[in-house]
Amino acid sequence: MGYTPVILGAGHARGDAAARPELSCAGVRAVIDDYRTGALGADTRDLMRTHLDECADCRQQWRRSRWGAARTSALYGELAGFLGDGFVEHRDTTQELVTAWDQAAPRTDLEIRRFYRTTQAYLYDQVLWHASGTRPNYVAAALPILQAHPGPVLDWGCGIGVDLLRMHQLGLNVWGCELPSPPRDFLIWRARHHGYHRPIVDPGNAGPRAKPTVLWLIDTLDHLRDPQASLGALLDTVDVLITERYVDDPRRGRLGFHFRRPLSEIAELLAEHGLHPQQQRDEPVLLSVWSRARRGPAQPGPATHDDIRQGAPSA
Ligand SMILES: [Zn+2]
Repeated sequence: MGYTPVILGAGHARGDAAARPELSCAGVRAVIDDYRTGALGADTRDLMRTHLDECADCRQQWRRSRWGAARTSALYGELAGFLGDGFVEHRDTTQELVTAWDQAAPRTDLEIRRFYRTTQAYLYDQVLWHASGTRPNYVAAALPILQAHPGPVLDWGCGIGVDLLRMHQLGLNVWGCELPSPPRDFLIWRARHHGYHRPIVDPGNAGPRAKPTVLWLIDTLDHLRDPQASLGALLDTVDVLITERYVDDPRRGRLGFHFRRPLSEIAELLAEHGLHPQQQRDEPVLLSVWSRARRGPAQPGPATHDDIRQGAPSA
């Protein structure tokens, strides 16, 4: 934490008074493991992302690092078992996903559904994201909130179901919904080994089926072309909505398949449904939590947008 690697003061472009700092290739290699596990400070993390966007050699190193770390995980073994002979190690699935999205250029909900139904890149990408230790343990961070709201949790866009199965193992009443897709097939394949026997419902009828009081919306908002259309009815009935820490970050949304919106737009949409941001005091703050303002004085008061804007772990 806070360790500063080789940073070059470079880039006096456009007459900026301060030099724009950069990370060298050697600097990237020195902190690649800390980057993977989320141990870097925000400034170095941003430099790292900028460098990786621009340097193919370091991107390849980054891919090796992720795959290497994922190899020993149970999830990795499950993916290999699920795909059998079709399993391809070291696939650069992030790039594959971006390219496939750009080529397919889906616009309507039907086209988006079709895209996710066929692409295997997203399955690999999700497994790698979890199995390489990059993704924070959001369930652990949210446990006090989840325990305070014992009603059903709906994991919306549950993907390969890591959070879903984790919550289930903790004894929480949880449902998952996901579009028909390879990640969903993988989840169904492995759920029974984890003692989870509920169906993975379609997002279209998840609300009536699960009747959730908590909406778990991690790494999902950015995938919704029209959150109001997708979630509207649910937003009127749940008591709590939990997302990964939602902040204004110009780097988010640079991948074609993300629809990134300003925090103010999300806050406005949720406020229309009576859901207001709650201040999170954990460090690091991993979550944004929104709840209905009909709770008693034991609940923490609504946070201002500034409270939840600063800093965020992200992909
Ligand atoms: Zn480099």
